Amino acid sequence: MSKVEEVVRLIKEKFKIPEERIIKEIKQKLLEFSGLISEEGAAILVARDYGIDIREIKTFTPLSELVSGMRNVNVRAKVIKVLPLKEFTKRSGEKGFLKTYIIADNSDYARLVFWDEQALEAEEMKIKEGMVLKIYNVRTKENIFGEIDILTDKNTFIEFDEKDDFLPIDELSEKFLKSKYKKLQGPLDSLGYYEVVGIISYVFGKNFFFKSCPICGNKVVNKEGTYFCDVHGEVNPKNSLYLRIEINTFDSNLRAVAFRDVAEKIVGMKSEELEKIENLKDFLTKVLVGKFIKVKGRARKNKVLNVFELIINEVENVDFKSEINELIEKVEIT
Ligand SMILES: [Zn+2]
Repeated sequence: MSKVEEVVRLIKEKFKIPEERIIKEIKQKLLEFSGLISEEGAAILVARDYGIDIREIKTFTPLSELVSGMRNVNVRAKVIKVLPLKEFTKRSGEKGFLKTYIIADNSDYARLVFWDEQALEAEEMKIKEGMVLKIYNVRTKENIFGEIDILTDKNTFIEFDEKDDFLPIDELSEKFLKSKYKKLQGPLDSLGYYEVVGIISYVFGKNFFFKSCPICGNKVVNKEGTYFCDVHGEVNPKNSLYLRIEINTFDSNLRAVAFRDVAEKIVGMKSEELEKIENLKDFLTKVLVGKFIKVKGRARKNKVLNVFELIINEVENVDFKSEINELIEKVEIT
């Protein structure tokens, strides 16, 4: 919803004035200032004439427009999945909590994440699948799968919205959760979710570990020898595996990255075992290059290299025979 639409909605609801009249007033205001203000500015002036506190004018960002690092964002979306409350123990010995919902508007979906006190409060709100929520004052962060998470804190507040103008819940789940992966045809050259089948043809880089938060798995920052997660504060980090590989799909080569347990699954070994290996680059090259692989992930733009790369979030056990036959057919056709 744009600011103009929100102003119209607020005035309409508060003063029971027909929409057309409000729009007319905004247009008049625009004329009055003869091009000196935007339509949005005109709408705000009209709202002020009605005595509406401009702080009440909240706009909602479509989920597809969220990027990492946004603050004080408002979103309006439907809950399509409620995950059970997770309990864990922090380094301090305190109990921690995590509550996650998958929400979607018609444009995209995202994880809505609550930690600790907020997680318990969210649990008490009895948010259910199918409910439409207006969620105010959240921030966004890219998670380890390259997707944008919506993070809440004590400034976040939620309203239930009676109005439901979104697709039905099963259509949203179908669109975003079930069949979101398309088989990659040709080169990886656009954003989206893909299933990729091919052979690992190269292992990039020299470093295969990064320091991560033991609670959420996100990368931590090192400030003078102390590690901080931007959600969980000071933590005792753990070493997590990080793989950058090239996959040859028979009609193109693409770059792919995998983190933590996903990377471990590709190698078939745990981080703790791999840490002990002296020349890990050689070892991984020997183990991985030539390996047949079927993965699912999300394409993102690597801004440094200016190419699309796949962030792998699922590794599948392959039915080698049928996949190979499919590939052979593909090669024969082209
Ligand atoms: Zn964390």
